[in-house]
Amino acid sequence: MTGHAIVVGGGIGGLATALALHRIGWRATVLERAPELGEVGAGMSQAPNALRALAELGVEAEARAVGVPTYSTSNLRRPDGRYLKRAEPGEGTALLGFHRADLHGVLLDAVPAGWVHTEAEVTDLRPDGAGVTVTAGGTDYRADLVIGADGIHSAVRTRLWPEARPPRYLGRTAWLGVTDVAGLPGDLTGSVTLGRGALFLIHPVARDRAYWALLTAEPTAGVRYDDEKATALERVAGWHEPVPQLIRATPDAAVIRTDIRELPPLSTYARGRVALLGDAAHAMSPDRGQGAGHTLEDAVVLAHALSAEPTVEAALARYDAERRPRDQATARGARIDGAMTSSRVGQPAMVALVRLMPATLWRKGVAPDGNPTWRWEPPRLPAVPPVY
Ligand SMILES: Cc1cc2nc3c(=O)[nH]c(=O)nc-3n(C[C@H](O)[C@H](O)[C@H](O)COP(=O)(O)OP(=O)(O)OC[C@H]3O[C@@H](n4cnc5c(N)ncnc54)[C@H](O)[C@@H]3O)c2cc1C
Repeated sequence: MTGHAIVVGGGIGGLATALALHRIGWRATVLERAPELGEVGAGMSQAPNALRALAELGVEAEARAVGVPTYSTSNLRRPDGRYLKRAEPGEGTALLGFHRADLHGVLLDAVPAGWVHTEAEVTDLRPDGAGVTVTAGGTDYRADLVIGADGIHSAVRTRLWPEARPPRYLGRTAWLGVTDVAGLPGDLTGSVTLGRGALFLIHPVARDRAYWALLTAEPTAGVRYDDEKATALERVAGWHEPVPQLIRATPDAAVIRTDIRELPPLSTYARGRVALLGDAAHAMSPDRGQGAGHTLEDAVVLAHALSAEPTVEAALARYDAERRPRDQATARGARIDGAMTSSRVGQPAMVALVRLMPATLWRKGVAPDGNPTWRWEPPRLPAVPPVY
């Protein structure tokens, strides 16, 4: 079966979906509300499962070229700088660190020219038996299928999943940034530092830069500080270098603040000829570094289902059955991890557990095949002549 799909949203999820559809001989129109395409935000890591999804999309080499090995799961530190666990010299790592814009750019370069429309905010969609009509920027578009890849506050979900509960605040906030690291002292190979109710993450990213994120407990959502950078610095006063230096070195305007929210589990990702994907379907706490990774997986599984099933409806039902349990299990795990790291009781217990764990066991857990989430294998997409 081939056809034409409208993809709502031109983030990592929307572009990966367009690319996956291209691989199975479908056409796609990507409608993005922003005037220009690009990823706002800072950095991220991708694990072996996501890298396999990128391979199935045909862009693994391009992604690896802009990714940098990060030892964030191997180097666990305390605020005084001591290592709870540390990578051995010469040890490999399964994770790559990315600037968001770099990974987004890899996907965008691979999507056929003319498929992505900017300044096209979707405001309405009307499914019927034969297809779906979508209104964006005063224009009506028609397709066999619509995929809502429009993020945590998805308009597609709001319109067609009226029973879905809204995103909920998880009692934590994050400051994020990317900065040049040339000349900065300290371990910049990737690490996580666990302090009281807070964690500080470092991933190296391309072009001699590092991504950092400070996640801390914050009882109320939406609080704003006059000087966000100075507030972030206060929260890590006395922490080991390069933690304060990374924040200090980041231009004020490049320090981003975001509250941590998740989407309560949906009862389905598919409704007739409309499906949800990525954060629109399963926005999760960032503690397992899997939100975008699972989004890439979604795109591959959706395309595979469309190539294998006789109707759009059957394909979307299959996509829902294959993706929802895995996405929701990872989201649950990420929420629990986040609650532990930000809890004044849970975190010391976690640190004690890590301390007690033999180094060999720890290494096994952070090896590419040591982690059940990372072991995911994509379905193989059929070789079909692509449509341009
Ligand atoms: C602090 C933090 C750290 C994270 N770290 C990681 C990590 O290390 N690894 C990882 O895999 N994931 C990570 N994530 C998760 C990851 O950022 C998301 O899962 C991922 O970006 C979701 O992509 P998406 O395309 O589904 O949604 P989005 O990136 O939100 O993209 C949605 C797009 O839709 C557009 N849009 C919205 N509404 C409309 C509309 N009505 N019409 C048209 N367009 C519309 C938006 O403009 C946007 O371009 C992290 C998240 C956070 C908050």
